[in-house]
Amino acid sequence: MLNLKQFEIWFITGSQHLYGEETLRQVDAHSKIIAEFLDNAAPMPVRVVFKPVVKTPDEIYAICQEANVAPNCVGIVTWMHTFSPAKMWIRGLTILKKPLLHLHTQFNRDIPWGDIDMDFMNLNQSAHGDREFGFMVSRMRLNRKIVVGFWQEDAVVQKIAAWARVAVGAYELKTLKVVRFGDNMRQVAVTEGDKVAAEMTFGMSVNTHGIGDLVSVINQITDADVNQLVEEYADTYTLMDSLQKNGAQHSSLRDAARIELGMRAFLQDGGFGAFSDTFEDLHGMKQLPGIASQRLMADGYGFAGEGDWKTAAMVRILKVMAAGLPGGNSFMEDYTYHFDPANPLVLGSHMLEICPSIAAGKPSCEIHPLGIGGKEDPVRLVFNASAGPAINVSLIDMGNRFRLLVNEVEAVDVTEALPKLPVARALWKPMPDMATGCAAWILAGGAHHTVYSQNLTTEHIEDFADIFGVELVVIDRNTNLRQLKNELRWSETAFK
Ligand code: MN
Repeated sequence: MLNLKQFEIWFITGSQHLYGEETLRQVDAHSKIIAEFLDNAAPMPVRVVFKPVVKTPDEIYAICQEANVAPNCVGIVTWMHTFSPAKMWIRGLTILKKPLLHLHTQFNRDIPWGDIDMDFMNLNQSAHGDREFGFMVSRMRLNRKIVVGFWQEDAVVQKIAAWARVAVGAYELKTLKVVRFGDNMRQVAVTEGDKVAAEMTFGMSVNTHGIGDLVSVINQITDADVNQLVEEYADTYTLMDSLQKNGAQHSSLRDAARIELGMRAFLQDGGFGAFSDTFEDLHGMKQLPGIASQRLMADGYGFAGEGDWKTAAMVRILKVMAAGLPGGNSFMEDYTYHFDPANPLVLGSHMLEICPSIAAGKPSCEIHPLGIGGKEDPVRLVFNASAGPAINVSLIDMGNRFRLLVNEVEAVDVTEALPKLPVARALWKPMPDMATGCAAWILAGGAHHTVYSQNLTTEHIEDFADIFGVELVVIDRNTNLRQLKNELRWSETAFK
């Protein structure tokens, strides 16, 4: 998918002229060593670019201005090795448009007990220099991520790397184009929302094309291209007998392939990174796109059903953030429950469209009737999602603001055969437990549609919410319903 190494975060060290040339030379050299270490650290998904130490309000303003317009710069990391009087930062921080991470570290891990003198004290001042900077950022009410610790420590590198992934996702979201094929499913509430507010808050544009625009592209796909894709299906998945070359429903597999090729061409030509469709608006299409949406998601496109453009955008962004990590991200729906007190579970699935990036094994390609939509039987990929920790993420429109919700879950292996269930599925236990987790989700107004992520964590979503200044509600091991009710009440005031 996306190679995140094309993006940069800039490592900017603040100081002042008070210390003389020799100290500033050392500050510069130390900063360069730290930036290069981070650049080469295995978990770092982007390039970390050293920038010369800034010492005056003009230099600070200039570097912020440069970062704002640098096309590959997704954020800046600041560190005050010495003391950098923070009124110098006001002008620069006022115009800064890129995400900010404040690294509170020190070049030396340990105090050199036997040798420490006033020269050492003069150079290693971040314990108070970073506090001066931190005051200014707080005084200006700017969101940032603060990472504390020795720069070579794995935990420190991991936190910066997580934020860097989110910064790339944020960068992507600012220019993301979401296309809706048809409108939202009629009468559904949570998939609605203010598309103008979404563009103002996140940058993404959300626009509709009539299904006929898509159908005309699908109808131009050549038989030769369909032949080739059908072969790829046969090579990649276990094809059900009736879908194979001389099978009774092979022509439906060809129809599905044609739909995929048409959608792919439409998305590429329009520069779209995410899309939604709805079973209520399929005029001129033979089937609801199943395998097409599944495979497009696996290739990094965002998707959500029933016109759910918010979830479609989030699927795309989480896929971008997670690029290169093992595991996957998918459109998901809390579908049905297992209320066995000894083993309560949520079965997550959708009519068809779950992304095979979360599959535990080789998906099987099947065709079955679909009760709604009034079209021919759709082709879909069927599989079990793999076990392990995961999160469900939902973006909802509360009318005066957007709210992000995260529920940490523990996915379990699907051990039952489910011979009559013709869709991909995941099974999980919500945190902190079934009753609390589900009640908390409903209290917070979480959608039935989510992005299900195997490889991102609450930390990523928290960084994301901070970058955009949107509300975040986390449902995890520590969630307590009475506290959550209060948090939601207080947020109502905080976001007024
Ligand atoms: Mn749905």
